[in-house]
Amino acid sequence: MEEIRVFCPATIANISCGFDVLGVALDAVGDEMVVRKTHEKGIRITKLEGQDLPLETKKNVAGVAGLAFLEKADYNGGFEIEIYKKIKAGSGIGSSAASSTGAVWAMNYLLGNPFSKTDLVKFAMEGEKLASGVAHADNVAPALFGAFTLVRSYTPLDIIPIKNPSELFATVIHPQIEIKTADSRKILKTNISLENGIKQWGNVGGLIAGLFTEDYDLIGRSLEDHIIEPIRSILIPGFDDVKKEALSAGAMGCGISGSGPSIFAFSKGKQTADIVADAIKKTYQNIGIDFDIHVSKINSEGIKIIK
Ligand code: ADP
Repeated sequence: MEEIRVFCPATIANISCGFDVLGVALDAVGDEMVVRKTHEKGIRITKLEGQDLPLETKKNVAGVAGLAFLEKADYNGGFEIEIYKKIKAGSGIGSSAASSTGAVWAMNYLLGNPFSKTDLVKFAMEGEKLASGVAHADNVAPALFGAFTLVRSYTPLDIIPIKNPSELFATVIHPQIEIKTADSRKILKTNISLENGIKQWGNVGGLIAGLFTEDYDLIGRSLEDHIIEPIRSILIPGFDDVKKEALSAGAMGCGISGSGPSIFAFSKGKQTADIVADAIKKTYQNIGIDFDIHVSKINSEGIKIIK
């Protein structure tokens, strides 16, 4: 095969207590990419529609991740990439991760899958480093593995795939304000108290147990963040209101998606997720900030081939 078209899912990272370690792939929103083998060496981004982003290989995360892949691949040719963006850059739902994972997943497929998914996570993390200054894996891992993923360790990289409870739905609202990932990292403290650490790792354990056993109450109780959310939520106008509305409308939990400004809520069943969407819209309609809203089931496969 010489060419492939793929769907690259949006992802929610930093899931409440799981800063930098827990992420999940979405189904209703994602980019499309076409990747083509070429005789000419190197990576060329030949088309980019939907967002104003650089075509230059070293300035685009797809190019940077692709170069990391090529450096390790036993292959004499190169690749051409077309990117059709549906996920807005800087939205907090893994716009950069969709492009970097889509590129390396498709290249790997076209060469007969010589690399493991964990290898692909490493290549894609080079793209994340370009986007935010930090090579975090909690968006790229779920995009590649599907469903939820836990980054148990960064050195060495150890990704634990976690299946999704079948009735879990996400509602994501993206207020149209810009927060750069790099800026929202700068305001974080580098030390945490033991008291908060205890609460946080209790919740991470509870969340993982709840996901594996499909215990929706336990998932809800564990969707708490005592460390990052109190600091970062200050950058998102209306955050406290959205969270209050989401929980009163029946959501199990609600938090900042990635580094914001998107906010996610998890619900049991699509009907509740739709009711939550209606409830949280009102906050931004009242403040007068434009927004996008998505209700999505969890994407259990990650990147997939489309015709
Ligand atoms: P998100 O959380 O939505 O991924 P980030 O702030 O992490 O947003 O990443 C967006 C940054 O990455 C922007 O500065 C953007 O210019 C840069 N970037 C480079 N290439 C791409 C790409 N192909 N898709 C999205 N963002 C890209």
